[in-house]
Amino acid sequence: MDGTLTKNDLSHVVEADRAHVWHHLIQHKPFETNDPRIIVEGKGMRVWDQKGKEHLDAVSGGVWTVNVGYGRESIAKAVYDQLIKLNYFAGSAGSIPGALFSEKLISKMPGMTRVYYTNSGSEANEKAFKMIRQIAHKRYGGTKHKILYRDRDYHGTTIGCLSAGGQDERNAQYGPFTPGFVRVPHCLEYRAGDQGAPTENYGEWAADQIEQVILREGPDTVGGLCLEPVTAGGGVITPPQGYWDRVQEICRKYDILLHIDEVVCGVGRTGTWFGYQHYGVQPDMVTMAKGVASGYAAIACLVTTEDVFSMFKDNADDPMNYFRDISTFGGCTAGPAAALENMRIIEDEGLLENTTEIGHYMLDQLHALADKHAVIGNVRGKGLFLGAELVEDRETRKPMAEKRVQKVVADCMQQGIIIGATNRSLPGYNNTLCFSPALIATKDDIDQIIASVDEALGREFA
Ligand code: PMP
Repeated sequence: MDGTLTKNDLSHVVEADRAHVWHHLIQHKPFETNDPRIIVEGKGMRVWDQKGKEHLDAVSGGVWTVNVGYGRESIAKAVYDQLIKLNYFAGSAGSIPGALFSEKLISKMPGMTRVYYTNSGSEANEKAFKMIRQIAHKRYGGTKHKILYRDRDYHGTTIGCLSAGGQDERNAQYGPFTPGFVRVPHCLEYRAGDQGAPTENYGEWAADQIEQVILREGPDTVGGLCLEPVTAGGGVITPPQGYWDRVQEICRKYDILLHIDEVVCGVGRTGTWFGYQHYGVQPDMVTMAKGVASGYAAIACLVTTEDVFSMFKDNADDPMNYFRDISTFGGCTAGPAAALENMRIIEDEGLLENTTEIGHYMLDQLHALADKHAVIGNVRGKGLFLGAELVEDRETRKPMAEKRVQKVVADCMQQGIIIGATNRSLPGYNNTLCFSPALIATKDDIDQIIASVDEALGREFA
């Protein structure tokens, strides 16, 4: 750390935090006796806490966000320059960074043409749901209003997004939910047996389950299908062979808008600009958030095709016929200014290529770890977005108890390596270790992460 904060300053911060901050995702009782963790500083792949302890961050800021790493002065400068010129203007006006970032983004998304700015992944998904609903009203008298979502996928924290949430423990206690959202089965090949799936052509079978739901509900009632390209918090689920081709076919067959949630995978995480680009699929709507500006500013977007956009442009004399929606902080200029520089960095430093190369390396290392530790039942992922599912028994695939998985995470933390785990979201399936280092990771960083997991597994499951 640079030492600008004294020990006294920091203990004041800890006490202020303990007294007043309500942290995300955690029960606070332990903070009565243990200090909350405050992250003070970051540089590259590393962060320092209030005790000055250095950590190698294998989860990009906890939730897959800081894709280009910490301490990027050029992003800070781009934001500063923009803020002193114009920080904000909203309503129906545009901005210089908003226009330039949208042009850059669209250049990486063939088939897409329009960018709608918001400030969180949940909000971007809400906008997509609203567009699907408005199209149902415009085109089908409101009948084609149902939105399908998948078991284990997550789309955000609002009641609307939880209504489309496939992680039951995250939803428990927050109902009743919004009607018109319908669940389809997951596509995790490792657990195909639990679904009674055939042993061959699982990908097509899993996609066919979506068609079964559409037929059950009535195709003229279903307007949208919302999927993560690679499921994130639900277990780092890479889609099986043949899955996306069938999904696209089904959407076209029943005139269903395909909305892909790239909040985690978007902007390089899997080694392509967007996760769906691995699978040759053409979405109608794409939402993104975390990696868009790597956490240097809050920005999220919903990107659509011209077909979707033009439905809101026809009948210009009808006063109801436009997207009747706004996001106050969609008018902040810091977001697109940071996002533009973030994309420049990814391009100029070859970070997509690095993600592919280092991602393959890390996947190989995780497989080698699985050869050594029987508790690793399955390894999966894409690019620098990887998971290792822990089981009590490889034969039965019984999920490892969450407490023991969390012990591995805590052990790595002790060693100065921050890893993640699917956590308090899936009843019985909080058992996958998650890795998502920044796209700048080197083989040396990966070796350190793998060595710490190796040590932790050895200690916990000897
Ligand atoms: N979609 C996915 C796939 C996510 O993982 C998340 C957040 N973890 C969201 C949407 C919601 O994003 P936010 O927290 O920015 O609202």
